[in-house]
Amino acid sequence: MSKESYPLYPPLPHLRSWVDIDGRALRFNIRVARTRIPKKTKIIAVVKSEAYGHGLIPISKELVQSGIEILGINNIDEAIELRNAGIRTPLLILCPILAPDAPFIVAHDIGVVISSYHEALWLNEAAERQGKRAIVHLKIDTGMGRLGFMPFQFIQEMEKIKKLSSLSIAAICTHFSQADTDIEFTEKQWLEMLKFRSYFKGFPIHVANSAALWRKSVYACDYVRIGLALYGIAPMTFLRRFLKPVMSWKCRVVLIKDLPRGHPISYGASYKLKKPSRIAVLSVGYGDGYFRTLSNKAYVLIKGKRCPIRGAITMNLMMVDVTELPSCKVGDEAVLIGTQGKESITADELAKLSGTISYEIITNIHANLRRNYRHFLSRSNECSLYE
Ligand SMILES: *Cc1c(COP(=O)(O)O)cnc(C)c1O
Repeated sequence: MSKESYPLYPPLPHLRSWVDIDGRALRFNIRVARTRIPKKTKIIAVVKSEAYGHGLIPISKELVQSGIEILGINNIDEAIELRNAGIRTPLLILCPILAPDAPFIVAHDIGVVISSYHEALWLNEAAERQGKRAIVHLKIDTGMGRLGFMPFQFIQEMEKIKKLSSLSIAAICTHFSQADTDIEFTEKQWLEMLKFRSYFKGFPIHVANSAALWRKSVYACDYVRIGLALYGIAPMTFLRRFLKPVMSWKCRVVLIKDLPRGHPISYGASYKLKKPSRIAVLSVGYGDGYFRTLSNKAYVLIKGKRCPIRGAITMNLMMVDVTELPSCKVGDEAVLIGTQGKESITADELAKLSGTISYEIITNIHANLRRNYRHFLSRSNECSLYE
């Protein structure tokens, strides 16, 4: 998405399904995170996967304006998109690179978390050619079983990498696999990391994701790499009251009908009405990213009331029971994630009901649903259609 695609959309007042993104909530969560970390600690704000479904460019601009020091991304495509949008902030690619990426990474001055000597070689060679130094963060696998050098090989590999004259080692890092669920295992990973901290004095360290940051303040180190909490979603339930969800997902009632007792609802007739009921058809389905596994399980909010989903969710439509809501009419707003009146539905609630995690709920929302950016500092992000 280029910078030009944000400012003004053609006015379409009757969107079927859309996502509101609240800049005030984002800035609030940044301030909350800052209170958890020492002054010297820098924030690597993680914006991979379209800023967790919130929109890469508008969110990144807002984070940068709010003083975020580094943006954490997944790949070179995201890096180039950010640079093309005029964002000059330091970037850090968190995933392994491939050989053809190296020259672009060096040309755009992007940092890379590396887990292998060959990545170091590619970057060193590209940097040598361009008369630059490539920035690398060395990762150690302290228990995640994904990226990083194995601890027993690390010292040896680092000594080899240190000899590459066009590389600059900017930090040493690791990643926790269970910071949200297992305090003991997380501490074990931390102690494994500390062994290296004494050996490689002078290098900055980073280990903490959102969950770890609220587990133990010492995990903050020199940088934190946080995503979920910035978007106002709590990695642990007790954190929920400290954060404000940035995203709300909405759709509309497109049809209402009264159906008799025993009438089946939707494909497979997985629900049969237990009494005469008023059923509202909503303009969203699994093709928009609302999990079909939420059929007959989740609720939506209409006029501040929880309405249960009835029958199978279809590609772009689903049915809810509005028998208790006689004032419900076609065109009404229905909230899938967010707050209406006194009621709220969180991404976490939908995650639990569909057997996944909040990260998957929010990154699964289809990219073609419009994001409305409200209360953003950067005017070019604003879209005030619904104000
Ligand atoms: C995605 C990611 C993060 C951010 O995790 P949150 O739980 O969203 O805070 C941090 N570090 C790495 C390596 C990641 O891939």
